[in-house]
Amino acid sequence: MLKVAGLKAGYGRTQVLFGIDLEVRAGEIVTIIGANGAGKTSTLRSISGLTQIYSGEIEFKGRPIKGLPPEEITRLGLAHCPEGRQILQRLTVEENLLAGYIPGRGRSFDEIRTQVYDMFPILKERRHSLASRMSGGQQQMLAIGRSLMATPELLMLDEPSLGLAPKIINQIFEIIITLSTSGISLVVVEQNAAVALEIADYAYVIDAGRCSVEGGANNVLNDPDLKAAYLGA
Ligand code: ATP
Repeated sequence: MLKVAGLKAGYGRTQVLFGIDLEVRAGEIVTIIGANGAGKTSTLRSISGLTQIYSGEIEFKGRPIKGLPPEEITRLGLAHCPEGRQILQRLTVEENLLAGYIPGRGRSFDEIRTQVYDMFPILKERRHSLASRMSGGQQQMLAIGRSLMATPELLMLDEPSLGLAPKIINQIFEIIITLSTSGISLVVVEQNAAVALEIADYAYVIDAGRCSVEGGANNVLNDPDLKAAYLGA
């Protein structure tokens, strides 16, 4: 579904990715883990057309997407739920959902909104509330709900558990599993490596802008060296 080969990218003259290769097969949950500043967010932002790419190739559903504008990439079915959620705080829950809606993907706003409200009853209950009044966990649900308004086939989530209490983190990961069961392929970037590896099929470890390790999530989870480096064991 997604293939990234030899991706080099950065910010102006500051290169931060030095040749990332990764692949997501249809139906998989792929996690990207690594230390702070390793390049996880930059990898997602490059795929979505938000960070400058120096070289490399990116294919989504067999079609090259490098250089396409971000909205065109979303329209093709690849959505990105950014780090820090980036909810429109002064708008209501429902207005935020409307902001994420992409017409022309075969589903009406009402249809997808109903589906999002079924998945997140709290968003329905609070649909007329200002987003700024929602808790961190509710805002993360809103961010995911807004991404779903684009009817993605592949959804990339950047640090969905950031700043949330353990109980809420569990809820968010349950939601990720539900999304996967519904047929959406997922890329999950996480600091919380242990939880991400528990639910993922495949994992990449990024270190200083390069993929240093990749493998079945279970193998990565049980690798003694990686445990020591990333899982606090
Ligand atoms: P974190 O978990 O802290 O978000 P990360 O693995 O997602 O880390 P990135 O955010 O991709 O890493 O950062 C990779 C490198 O790029 C870091 O050295 C960071 O300082 C640098 N960087 C990120 N954004 C910018 C920017 N807008 N301008 C310049 N450098 C940046």
